[in-house]
Order: sequence, then structure tokens, then C-alpha cells
Amino acid sequence: MSPFELSTAADAAAAIHACSGNPAARFIAGGTNLLDLMKEGVMRPAHLVDINTLPLDFIRPGESGGLLLGALARNADTAWHPLVRERYPLLSSAILAGASPQLRNMASNGGNLLQRTRCMYFYDLATPCNKREPGSGCSAIGGLTRQHAILGASRCCIATHPSDMCVALAALDAVVHVQNAGGNRAIPLRELHRLPGEHPEHDTVLEPGDLVTHIALPDAAQFAAHSVYLKLRDRLSYAFALVSVAAALDLDEDGTVREARLALGGVAHKPWRVPAAEDALRGRLPDDDAGARAAEILLEGAAGQGDNDFKIELARRAILRALKVARTGTVTNSGDNTRRQQRSAAPQQRPYPNDRRAP
Ligand code: SF4
Repeated sequence: MSPFELSTAADAAAAIHACSGNPAARFIAGGTNLLDLMKEGVMRPAHLVDINTLPLDFIRPGESGGLLLGALARNADTAWHPLVRERYPLLSSAILAGASPQLRNMASNGGNLLQRTRCMYFYDLATPCNKREPGSGCSAIGGLTRQHAILGASRCCIATHPSDMCVALAALDAVVHVQNAGGNRAIPLRELHRLPGEHPEHDTVLEPGDLVTHIALPDAAQFAAHSVYLKLRDRLSYAFALVSVAAALDLDEDGTVREARLALGGVAHKPWRVPAAEDALRGRLPDDDAGARAAEILLEGAAGQGDNDFKIELARRAILRALKVARTGTVTNSGDNTRRQQRSAAPQQRPYPNDRRAP
């Protein structure tokens, strides 16, 4: 690991001052991704500013409703918080679908937003990578692409964003609050992460010195009874998504959709959400016909790279499955097991009909 200076922030202003305009300085909280990147030599910050002393580990109701998640609240504390479990089961399930219990105990909410791609070439210093070294080329194009993007990719980078939490946050219309030397600003989660374009080295719209303080969740009670985070991956735990779907439905008494939320993970450089796909569900029963139309819109323009061509059909089927499950209730993830919370009067069925391990 390259040598670096470590300082502890006395307050938010001091932390921001230490990192403002200085791309060689980084905030560190849980360090579950950054330290790996430093050990591999992928990132070599000259100065780390430990922000764990800042009072940003809260989880509390917002003054005008909703919920505020502090940037330093740990992923595990967030996923298991009673208000998150009750009001935002989609978010709880998404967090618990990611990483491992040990990692979730350390990882912060702010760090989860800002974690970097797990493209294997990004971590391999022996291969060119535009994200690691701008202008050097992309080894994934023409290489091994099973985990790579089918949407929003560019000629410079076809990496995917690895977070599960962010997919649920995108579906829930979360807003990321940021403080810097010039003041505060609010960024809708859907606008936080960038597509790679010509500059894949920039994962987000944040600049050095931008400190994520908290994530604001609007009230989403109407979705709590019909939501699911469906994650498809190469093994049942501790693996990144090949494709994931965050689906939430607000259903009328006759079962038609008042409002829907659909977001995909594992398919692009950012959580993928297309409002027109949700519009296509409104006023209809969320059956396979309506789901197929929503999937068609969500996946418009999808293109494989060879190894990952299968993701297009996998995503289409995952969308149909997620809608089918959400229609009949809410599925909550307990980390190792999937459990159904039967909140709906709709007939019971297995959350994942082909999975005999599911209750
Ligand atoms: Fe690097 Fe992106 Fe290409 Fe992966 S896909 S090698 S992260 S430029």
C-alpha cells in the first residue's frame, strides 16, 4: 500500500476543508471498499480524512415525513431499523441482499453510494482501464463480460455499478444531501451516478470536498405492502447481481396499479430506472402482459457484449417475476433467508415458486 497521511475530522467543516479541491484527499468511513482499492494499488490517496467522529450516524423521521438516513449509519443498522423494516421493506431487503453480515456491519450508507465498480480489469493493474487510468483503454471490451453492462455503456467503459442499496433508493425516489465549502445541496439519487460516456473515471456528479451528510427518503407507505427486491447472481450469497429488480406497487382495491416503481441493478453504470415503464403499468393489472410492456420499455436499447448477452432475457424474466411476487405481497430478506410478509388479501403463493428453500 502506498504511504498516506491520516487525519481525523474535528467537524464537518474541517473535513470538507481538508478535501476541497484536492483529488488526492478522500473521506474514509467504513473503508470496506476504499481500503481494498488501496491495498491493490488501484487508488492511492495521499491523505485520508477519517469522518467517523461526525454526528452523521442517525436514522430518524424527517420533519415533513419520510425518513432520514445518516451517511455514517451502518448498512446493517439501516437494514434492521424498525422504521426501515416497516416502512421501506424494499430498502431493507436490498441492503441485506448485498455483501456479508461483517461487511454490512462496517459499511456506511454514504460509502455504499460511492463504492466503485467491481469490474475485474479495474482491479488488475496489469490491464488497461479507462476508469482507473483515463485514456488507457478498456480491457473489458473484447474481454470477459459476464458481469458487465447491457444498458448505458460507452466505447470507453462497460462497467456496472455494484450497489444493491442504490437500486432500492432509486426506486424510492431518495435524495442525497451533500455539504461542501459553498453550502448544502440536494441531489436526487437517480442523478448522483453518471453514465460512463467519455469520462468513466467519474462515477458520480460529486467533486472533491463534497461530503454526503444524509439520504432523505420520501414517505412511501403506499408501497410497503407490495414490494420485492429480486437479486439474481451466480451464488446465493456474497455475490454481485447479474441482474436485480426493485419492484414496488401501490394497488387499488381491484388490484390495478395506482403507482409503480421499477429499477434495475447489475445492468448499467448506475441504477436503471425509466419512468415510462412505470407509466405503462398504471391503471392496469400488473400481469405478464403489462409486465412485458414495462420490461420492453426498461430494456429499450439493451445490448450485450457477448458473454453477457443472456442478461437481456434474464432481466426481462426477472421483471416479470418481481411484478408477480410484488402483486401478492411483500418479500423481506433476512440476510440468509427470504421471508414473506403477508400484508395483502391476495392469494398466497411461494415468493419464488421454483425455490424450495423459500417458506
Ligand atoms: Fe475499466 Fe470500465 Fe473497461 Fe472495466 S469496463 S476495464 S472499469 S474502463
